Amino acid sequence: MSNSDLDTVFISSKENIRYFSGFTGTFAFLIISDKKALIVTDSRYTIRATEECPNFEIYQIKSGINWIENITKQIGTKILGFEGENLAVNMLEQMKSKAPNVSEWKDFSDPVTQGRVIKSEEEVDIIKRTINISDSAFNEVSKVITIGMTEKEIAWEIEKTMRELGAESPSFDTIVASGVNGAKPHHTPTDKKIEDNEGIVIDMGAKYEGYCSDLTRTIYIGEPSKKFKEVYSTVHRAQLIAIETAQPDMTGEDLDALARTVISNAGFGENFGHSLGHGVGIAIHENPTVGPTSKNIIKPGMIYTIEPGIYLENWGGVRIEDMMLFTDSGNEILSHAIKEVF
Ligand code: ZN
Ligand code: ZN
Repeated sequence: MSNSDLDTVFISSKENIRYFSGFTGTFAFLIISDKKALIVTDSRYTIRATEECPNFEIYQIKSGINWIENITKQIGTKILGFEGENLAVNMLEQMKSKAPNVSEWKDFSDPVTQGRVIKSEEEVDIIKRTINISDSAFNEVSKVITIGMTEKEIAWEIEKTMRELGAESPSFDTIVASGVNGAKPHHTPTDKKIEDNEGIVIDMGAKYEGYCSDLTRTIYIGEPSKKFKEVYSTVHRAQLIAIETAQPDMTGEDLDALARTVISNAGFGENFGHSLGHGVGIAIHENPTVGPTSKNIIKPGMIYTIEPGIYLENWGGVRIEDMMLFTDSGNEILSHAIKEVF
């Protein structure tokens, strides 16, 4: 705020609300000025907000009360920053009409979210524990996958095990893509049974103390074919090169190119359609971006994934994903789930 002309900010995304206040419920807003920090919620969450947000004053919304006008008048808001990336257009219009005392409304999405990109030691610590949960769950479940199990059953085993290991939830719906389904990077698990001699792409993550983890492994049931070995080793090599040769001051684009070149040189350039990676934190996808057009510089303290893949229609796919902490000397690999070499 001190770097802008805003006198008040309105935080509405659940990730930023949790980041700034500690609130874990599903309905609240933060209104912050240099003199006041308010958490606005309703009776379902007032006790929780009191417990979780000791640094915030609680404002309880009651029906028929014009809370946005009351609060902004009390604060003396003239220029209000809001999260344009998150706030619904109709809610913004409604608030504008209810608080004519506010003279200007400005989109403040970028600076609000950029603050989360460099992780504190405490955040790194929590994320490491979160990663540990999904790594352990993968190691446990991958051992019991057998022919005849369905994709849905495997996904459920993974999600159940992560909960048993302390996760508050999965960080996203688990992906289990077997055989030809592996060609769809974001396949939803089906009742398809695992067959002999096919690959399985498993993309999974845990949420713990508000932070996410993200992990992909591709395993093989039976004796891997020559083609599978070729595709797998290409993806693996691309991943290792990106992990090991990343240097301070590279952009997300540079990092992406390291892996993409390996895959293109092997003749699979057309079959790697997504970005190399993405930041991970309170949200499963956040800054920095690590893709072909990512101009952001990768800096120490950033946590992100490196996840190259190759997807071949009517054949299947391979993706390998690990989480990195960028340090002064390059990537520190945070994921430690079993990774096979074919
Ligand atoms: Zn993933
Ligand atoms: Zn990912």
